[in-house]
Amino acid sequence: MKIGIVGARLAGSYAGLLLSRLGHEVLLFDHAAEEEKPCGGGVTFKAIRKMPWFAESSLPHAKIGTALLSAHDGYAGSLLLPHPIHIFSRRSIDSHLLQWAIQSGTRFLPERALHFAKDRKTWRIKTKAGAFEVDYLVGADGANSSVRAALVGRHASLDLSLALGCVLPNAYHPGTVRIAFQESGFQGYMWSFPRVDQTSVGIIRRLPGAHASDLKRRVEEFIAVHYPDAGDERAFYAATVPCLRHRSLIQQRVCGEHWALLGDAAGFTDPLTAEGIYYALRSAELLADSFHRGDPSRFETRWRMDFLADLERASHWRDHVFTGMVLSRTFIRRSLQAVRYSGVIQMLLDNLISGNISYKVLLRNLVFRSPQILAQALRRKLVYD
Ligand SMILES: Cc1cc2nc3c(=O)[nH]c(=O)nc-3n(C[C@H](O)[C@H](O)[C@H](O)COP(=O)(O)OP(=O)(O)OC[C@H]3O[C@@H](n4cnc5c(N)ncnc54)[C@H](O)[C@@H]3O)c2cc1C
Repeated sequence: MKIGIVGARLAGSYAGLLLSRLGHEVLLFDHAAEEEKPCGGGVTFKAIRKMPWFAESSLPHAKIGTALLSAHDGYAGSLLLPHPIHIFSRRSIDSHLLQWAIQSGTRFLPERALHFAKDRKTWRIKTKAGAFEVDYLVGADGANSSVRAALVGRHASLDLSLALGCVLPNAYHPGTVRIAFQESGFQGYMWSFPRVDQTSVGIIRRLPGAHASDLKRRVEEFIAVHYPDAGDERAFYAATVPCLRHRSLIQQRVCGEHWALLGDAAGFTDPLTAEGIYYALRSAELLADSFHRGDPSRFETRWRMDFLADLERASHWRDHVFTGMVLSRTFIRRSLQAVRYSGVIQMLLDNLISGNISYKVLLRNLVFRSPQILAQALRRKLVYD
């Protein structure tokens, strides 16, 4: 089959690679694939484990074994991560996948796809250079996907978050990520992720209520406290990330008669943490596997069976995590106390982040092991405080 893929980063290039290997003729369009994608570059252990090519590729990365978590009032706890987060430069993963796709037979066209129209069974993709006919159209063109806009409509603003950040070239704190939660009601968080020779610092907040100037001020204050030697010169970026509401997740269609959406275009990010790298890659695998089994339309069922439950649970928990109160303290504050005082909580969170357990299994464990967690917390509090 002749397949046109719009967007040549994680989802698009990986899909190009896998579909070319299956013997399909793939055209891959992107006018800006060489630019650095604004992204923390944090890849969780579940992606490293499920996609062995990460380890085999020897792409430079930093391994993170500790997350320093802080609440708005300064209360902090460290979470040990026996299953480390790997932090890559997005430029290196993106170009690795693109080159790999090209070597496998994908034809890369460094052009913006401007228009998509279907005539019976054939799609026409228009670019400045001309028109290309394909049998199947894949939208892997990110959060503001124009393929999505043409086929099912753009993501609603209530389903988007705004991320703003910068890179600090001379700042590097090996082995530790910082996550700083903000005041109650702020649906998002600030992060600093050390890469091999620099640190990426940023903040994300759900769109209604997110203002770039406010986010920038918070990042500057964070840098002044944690990276006082970082200097004054930095270029900020802003980008949207889909973090879908529960209703949008279950009602949306990402696959139809000879078309599919992948990655951010399909809204495949964790609505609580905004983790999207794993889901972009996994969605490409599931689409390619549906082609392999001779029925691309199975993709809609496959992604729902594979990871919808986790995204749904994260979406349900989001309000509670960012606005909930427990015993007159914020949910975040109480969770950090639990992280500080309970080894069981540390172990469960590490297993959640690494993909060993789902949000559902975490919840079950929290309920059934609550006496143990409470006893542990009381014992440690008595010893250490
Ligand atoms: C600031 C920030 C930090 C993040 N940090 C993390 C993190 O640490 N860990 C994590 O797991 N996730 C993170 N994410 C989410 C992650 O970056 C995304 O989920 C992931 O990049 C989605 O990949 P994708 O291939 O679907 O789309 P993208 O990476 O957005 O790629 C889309 C591509 O499509 C191209 N394109 C768009 N329109 C057209 C067109 N008309 N014609 C041709 N090409 C087009 C664009 O040029 C682009 O190259 C972060 C996101 C942001 C914004």
